This record gives sequence, C-alpha cells and structure tokens, in this order.
Amino acid sequence: MTETLHHWAAGAVLKSATDRFGDVTDPASGEVTRQVALATETDVEQVIEAAARAYPRWRDTSLTKRTSILFRFRELLNERAGELAEIITAEHGKVLSDAAGEVARGQEVVEFACGMPHLLKGSATENASTGIDISSIRQPLGVVGIISPFNFPAMVPMWFFPIAIAAGNTVVLKPSEKVPSAAQWIAELWREAGLPDGVFNVLHGDKVAVDGLLTHPEVKSISFVGSTPIARYVYETGTAHGKRVQALGGAKNHAVVLPDADLDMAADQAINAGFGSAGERCMAISAVVAVGSAGDALVEKIAERARGLVTGDGRRGADMGPLVTAAARDRVASYVDAGEAAGATLVVDGRGVTPDADGQGFFVGPTLFDHVTTDMSIYTDEIFGPVLAVVRVDTYDEAVALINANPYGNGTAIFTNDGGAARRFQNEVEVGMIGINVPVPVPMAYYSFGGWKNSLFGDTHAHGAEGVHFFTRGKVVTARWIDPARRGGAGELDLGFPRNS
Ligand code: NAD
Repeated sequence: MTETLHHWAAGAVLKSATDRFGDVTDPASGEVTRQVALATETDVEQVIEAAARAYPRWRDTSLTKRTSILFRFRELLNERAGELAEIITAEHGKVLSDAAGEVARGQEVVEFACGMPHLLKGSATENASTGIDISSIRQPLGVVGIISPFNFPAMVPMWFFPIAIAAGNTVVLKPSEKVPSAAQWIAELWREAGLPDGVFNVLHGDKVAVDGLLTHPEVKSISFVGSTPIARYVYETGTAHGKRVQALGGAKNHAVVLPDADLDMAADQAINAGFGSAGERCMAISAVVAVGSAGDALVEKIAERARGLVTGDGRRGADMGPLVTAAARDRVASYVDAGEAAGATLVVDGRGVTPDADGQGFFVGPTLFDHVTTDMSIYTDEIFGPVLAVVRVDTYDEAVALINANPYGNGTAIFTNDGGAARRFQNEVEVGMIGINVPVPVPMAYYSFGGWKNSLFGDTHAHGAEGVHFFTRGKVVTARWIDPARRGGAGELDLGFPRNS
C-alpha cells in the first residue's frame, strides 16, 4: 500500500473524502511511490475557508512580525534545502544539482520578500492643497490562489507565495498533481517557521480544484503557471469572476546564433538550455536559429556534445534525467517520429537511449534535428522534452522575423560578439525576456519574470516590483486636520467640485 497525500489547511493535514486519486511516480524507475487525493468541491470549500478565516488577523499582523517569520523560513530552507531537492528529483526526475538550483532560485524570492517593509512604503505629500495632505498606501487583497505546473514543484510556487504572504495575504496553493509532495514539505516548513495556521494552505487536485479557485468569491487573485490553453482558460474564467489574474503559459524559445558568435560557447549553452531538466523548462531553448555560415560548424559542435551526455537517474550523477511521466515520454518520442517523417535531418536520436537507471523509467535521450522548417510540428509545438531543432536562415533579419511571427514570446537569446547587433535584437524582438550570450535569461527576484503574447495572459509579470503590485491594491488618502488654533470652520460651505487652493 502506498501512502496517500491529503490537503493542508489551517496548519494541519485535511483528510479528503474523495474517491478520486492521482498516482505519483518516480520517473527514473517508473514506480508509483504515493497517491494524491484529488479535491472534491467540499474540499475546495474547506481549504479556502481556512485561508479566509486566517486573513483578518494576518493582515493586521505587523510588518515586523510578518517579515521575521519570513526570515525564519529562509533560515530553515537554507538548512534543509537538500531535503526539498531530493523530493523534487524523486517526483519530477530532474538531476539533483538542477533541483538544488531550483530551490536556490525560489529562495531568492523569499529574500526579496524579506524586504517587504521597504517595498510596501507608500508616498505622502504635505499641503497638496491648503491644509490638505495626501498619502498613498498599498493593502493586501485577501485570499490568493496559486496554481502551479509540474516542472518546477518548488520554484514556481515560490515566485508568488513569499510576496503574497509578506504583503499580508493568505494563500491557497494548488500544486501539480504529478509532483505534490514539495508543496506539503513547504507547508510544514512554514509551520516550523511560526506562520500562523491558515496563512499557507495546500489544495491538491485537478480541474475540480482549479475551477473551485477560479469561481470562489473569497479568492481575490489567481497566479497561474502552466500550458497555454489552460492559461488562457484560467485567465478568461478568473477575470469573468472578478479576479485579478496573471496566467503564465507555454513557450517556444529561440536562440539566434550569428556567424561572428563564439560557436563553442553557443554550442555549450544550447546544450545546457536545450537539455537541462530534459527540456522541461518554460525557458528551455528548443529552437536554435543558425544564421548564414554559423550553421554547419554549430550543428557539429552541438551534436558532439549531445552524444557525450549521460542520461539516467538524477540521483546518480547523470547529466540529464527522465521525462516526468510515461505519457510525456511517449509524446516526446512521437514528435521525434513526426520530425523524421516531415523530412528534418535527425542528427542525434534519443529514442532507445540506454539510461543509467534501474527499472522502467521514462527516458528519452538528447535529440538533435537539423534543417527544421517552420511548418514542421517539431518547430510549431512546444514539445517540452530534450529535442533541439536547428532552423537555418540566411540573415539576421530573417531570424528576427521568424521569432516575431511565433505565437509564443517567453524568452529568447542571441549569441554574437557584435554589440550593435545585440542592441538591435533587444530592441526589435517581441519577447518578454532576452538573453545576450546568456541562454536562459530568468530574471533575478528583484526584476519581474514574464513573457509576451501566448506566454502570458494578464498584464502583470511574476515577482519583483510587479509581483508586489499584483498582491496589493492601492489606496489614496486625502486628509485635512484643522490647526487647533483655527478650529470652528465657519464660512466653509461650498457645493462646487473641490478645487485646489
Ligand atoms: P498544465 O497546464 O498541464 O498544468 C498546470 C496546472 O493546471 C496544474 O496545476 C494542473 O493541475 C492544472 N490543470 C491541468 N489541466 C487542467 C484543466 N483542464 N483545467 C484546469 N486546470 C488544469 O501544465 P504542466 O504540464 O503542469 O506544465 C508544463 C507547462 O507549463 C508548459 O507548457 C510550460 O511551458 C509551462 N510553464 C510556463 C512557465 C512560464 O513561466 N511561462 C513556467 C513553467 C512552466
């Protein structure tokens, strides 16, 4: 009998009465390791209710107290980051060093949110009109919902909840049902850090849980990260129910390599960004756009490196781990079949890889296609696996036109030694995050993360100043305090629209 994971509400496990469960697997061995309860509508109600009950007190808790709990959370996470990385590897499959990197990038947001007293400072104007002062303040929203994808079980939720909590909101996190354990571990860490019960809650489940969050009147905002069709649905449904929504979607990220680039560096980075986390990153490079004479040498260098990578169990020092599920593996393999059938040149074939792992894990090795054209499904679709497609173009202008014609706009990179070309690229390309000789340009926590076009619905990006803005709303106070010497106010009747004087 495997263990079953239930919800977390009001500081304790909340046992679900559901008859629907999801299997959680170890992708490196293929074994089912636990089950997760998939929420019923009653569960949704109970978890949101726990967050709503905790809100008035948390919102009135001083900033000093709130941030002291955040500091404690940070310290505990520093001490125990390894445990969380192991949980991530066991359920997602990414190699341990990558899982540790994910935790570290999430921790950056905790550190950013520790500065909430400064970030929440409003502004004040004395004597804006005679005897009248104006100030602006920002206040929390209430209960906020976070819905996260499978590929970053810790980091993506951490893009949001440290800021939401520090700003005085209470949180319901709905993690991906494929990787539910990290959220539970984090909930227990919050309790240890002294967070009051009900401020951080975890609702496990699928569409029922998501729809509950999207429509419940107590939930004031939704931060969603996942595939584009679901992001669009979440945005449309959430906003139709009066919620503030930021819905980050899928991606197809291009790396342009100009002929003057350092081709060894470009090849190294294409490997890191194409095959890191088995290509299951929204910022993965999945299309390399080789300009002019860069093509042949670049493909050769990428192929040589790809062939040298070890695919296997992420706990054994492999370079690249498995895909998250058997279905994901089969889907990726079917794209490789389709690319071959469409006439792309299959330079390195990852199907049939012999992994360094025991059992029946979900492996596809690094795969490289050359001479990919923009009508092929290996170019048009987000494969979300270790498949790198090289598209050849003759000029820089063609490369930019190709990226700008793509419906996604999450991240992109250019490899060049020409500062003028790089500067033009950052100006012209219609993508939210740009790397210049940097392949995975994930902004630091104090900047904001988000794409353009079908990679983000809503107008607020994650973390940084935009994150603080998202989890708070503004209020402006106009105040008149009469000088004690002039009390009485006679002769002030005036029914006209107030004008400044
Ligand atoms: P997904 O869209 O399948 O799932 C995301 C969340 O939505 C999960 O919590 C899931 O339970 C829920 N969900 C799934 N189907 C649903 C439905 N029909 N109705 C309501 N909710 C539903 O995404 P995934 O496979 O977990 O994650 C991979 C995707 O996430 C990729 O497309 C990737 O690009 C994207 N992603 C984007 C970013 C970004 O910052 N833009 C970051 C990470 C991942």
